[in-house]
Amino acid sequence: MNISARTKVCMIIGDPVEHSLSPVMHNAAYEALSIDNEFVFTAAHVLSENLEIAIKGARSLGIHGITCTIPHKVEVIRFLDEIDPIAAKIGAVNTILNKNGKLIGYNTDWIGTVTPLEEKTILEGKKVAILGAGGASRAMAYGVTERKAHLTIFNRTLENAQVIAKDFNAEASDLSDLSNLKEMDIIINSTSVGMADQADVSLVPSEFLHRDQIVFDAIYKPNMTRLLHNAQSAGAQIICGFEMLLHQGVAQFEIYTQKKAPFDVMKEVVTATL
Ligand code: NAP
Repeated sequence: MNISARTKVCMIIGDPVEHSLSPVMHNAAYEALSIDNEFVFTAAHVLSENLEIAIKGARSLGIHGITCTIPHKVEVIRFLDEIDPIAAKIGAVNTILNKNGKLIGYNTDWIGTVTPLEEKTILEGKKVAILGAGGASRAMAYGVTERKAHLTIFNRTLENAQVIAKDFNAEASDLSDLSNLKEMDIIINSTSVGMADQADVSLVPSEFLHRDQIVFDAIYKPNMTRLLHNAQSAGAQIICGFEMLLHQGVAQFEIYTQKKAPFDVMKEVVTATL
C-alpha cells in the first residue's frame, strides 16, 4: 500500500457497518489496477443521529466517496447538493461522489439487480414478483420496470407495497396470498426472511417453484438461502444475493474512480468471504 497525502479516501457509513464487504472489495480492486496509491476505502460506524454531522465532516475533510448502507440510504438525501435522477426516482442513495466539493448522490443497487438477471434472460415482458417493500425493493422495482417487466410486489404490510407499486406502475398484493407466484417468470426475495438467524425459513411454498423460473434472493448471509435451495431443487435458475452486492459495487467503483472495475478480482474477494 502506498498511501500518501494525495490519496483519496472513500468509505462506507452505516449502523452496523463492521460486517461490510465494501472495504475489502474496493481495496482489492485498487490494488489490482495499481491505484492503491490514489484511493483507499475504509468504514465508519455512523449512528442515525450523527448522520448530518458525519456528512458535514466528510465534506470538510474532502472525503472522495461515501457509500451508504442501512439505515442511511434515504435520510442522507437531504444533506447532499445534487441527486442523480435515477436515485431521486428510487428515493434512496447508496453512493455519494464528492465532485470538486459538491456531493452528488447516486443509486447502484438497481444495477445490482438488473445485471445478474440480464445475464440469464431478457426482462422486457417478463412477469416479475418482488417479495418485500423496503429500501432494496424500491431499487429492484425501478430496475425491472425500467426494463419493461410486469411487476407485482407482495408484502406483509400491503400499504407499503401499494406505495412502491404506485411509483413504479406495478401491482401490489398481500403476502398472505402467494398462489399466483406459480405464474411468475422471476421471483425476487427482498425481505429479511431467510437471513442467518432464520436460515431455514422461506416465504415461498415449494409448490409455487418450477424449472421455468429464475429465483433471486437479495440475502447474502447465508449465500444459499432456504428459498434458493428449494428453487434449485425445483429446477429453477437461481441468483444469490452476493451477485447483487458485487454488481452494485462494480458500478460504484466506476463512479468513484472513473475506471473500469476489475470484475473478476472483486468477485473473487466477495465469494471468498462467503
Ligand atoms: P427493509 O427496508 O427493512 O425492508 C424489509 C422488508 O422485509 C419489508 O418489506 C418487511 O415487510 C419485510 N419483512 C421483514 N420481516 C418480515 C417477516 N417476518 N415476514 C414477512 N415480511 C417481512 O430492508 P431492505 O433494506 O429492503 O433489505 C431487505 C433484505 O435485502 C435484507 O436481507 C438485506 O440484507 C438485503 N439486501 C441485500 C443487498 C445485496 O446487495 N445483496 C442490498 C440491499 C439489501 P413490512 O413492510 O411488512 O415491514
